[in-house]
Amino acid sequence: MNVRIEIDRNRCTTCKMCIKSCRYGVLEWLDNAPVMVNPHECAACLEYERNCEAEAIKNKVS
Ligand code: SF4
Repeated sequence: MNVRIEIDRNRCTTCKMCIKSCRYGVLEWLDNAPVMVNPHECAACLEYERNCEAEAIKNKVS
């Protein structure tokens, strides 16, 4: 499974809810945006996408 995220920086409010909601520690805050640092740990549960009220983060699985 190849997992990556896409961030819409125009929508992102920098609330960091995506990072707080990821129980697998996949996301970290870097350069004023969430980045995926442990993609191999991602279970594609989509919790960070669900918890983003701004709809700024999208999970792409291929
Ligand atoms: S939850 Fe959404 S708005 Fe908040 S920091 Fe993450 S991507 Fe940005």
